[in-house]
Amino acid sequence: MSIPPVITPSRESRVGSHTVRRALPRRDRRTVGAWCFADHMGPAAYGEDDPVGVGPHPHIGLQTVTWLVEGELLHRDNLGTEQTIAPGQLNLMTAGHGVSHAEENVHARGALHGIQLWVAQPEATRHGDAAFEHHGELPQLELPNGRATVLVGMLGEVSSTARRDTDHFGAELLLRSGPTVVPVERDHEHALVVLDGSVAVGGETLRPGNLAYLQPGRDELPLAVDDACRVMLLGGEPFGAKIKMWWNFVGRDTDEIDVAAGDWNAGSDRFGDTGSTWDRIPAPATPWS
Ligand code: MN
Repeated sequence: MSIPPVITPSRESRVGSHTVRRALPRRDRRTVGAWCFADHMGPAAYGEDDPVGVGPHPHIGLQTVTWLVEGELLHRDNLGTEQTIAPGQLNLMTAGHGVSHAEENVHARGALHGIQLWVAQPEATRHGDAAFEHHGELPQLELPNGRATVLVGMLGEVSSTARRDTDHFGAELLLRSGPTVVPVERDHEHALVVLDGSVAVGGETLRPGNLAYLQPGRDELPLAVDDACRVMLLGGEPFGAKIKMWWNFVGRDTDEIDVAAGDWNAGSDRFGDTGSTWDRIPAPATPWS
């Protein structure tokens, strides 16, 4: 018998004038595999007075994974990328030593629903070059009573071609009423984050605003759905290194973070220029300085 899931409530947080449910990191759950951040955004209507999106800001040491259910966003970065993302597509940006980007709403008004995820980079690549990938189509796997879209890594016999610097995995499960079984890697720990509806897992009912954590040691994950459900399944080998996360940075100690924040606020070439006309977001003072 597998150990039952551990349910952690997400923290409601403000990004601009919109509420997000932050499923990761939480005090009791910092990482799941290399996944270190998960913000469930919306569904929320927006207009000219309260645009969604975020102005130019930097990242180090992580990959951003943007996944939309509704709406569109325009990604701009200092590599020269200008890429619109729509539901069912993947934007994957690798920060390495440093990158900056903005994500702007494409339409003056509309609705946005999606999830913003970060993956901590391993030592081998976290000091390396920044990069950006857009995947307009992703592989899918039919499941009993549902379908999985594989963003990164492998599910059953289906693999995403998205860049992967650690042994991790992410998919969206779109489930109909009834039971299903998802094949998973025995060495991976997993988390479920519901975007729409509810799903029963190991005797618990999971809804938006919570994360279910599942320890390694299982080959398949049985789920049950009453009505219909859209849920993210994230997994990976437990991340070996202890990370230091602050603001938009993932490092290993406070010195690295201080240097990155100073470089961004000084307008250093390390982070370049996104070309966005939105206001640049300055790094706040670090709590330890
Ligand atoms: Mn960002």
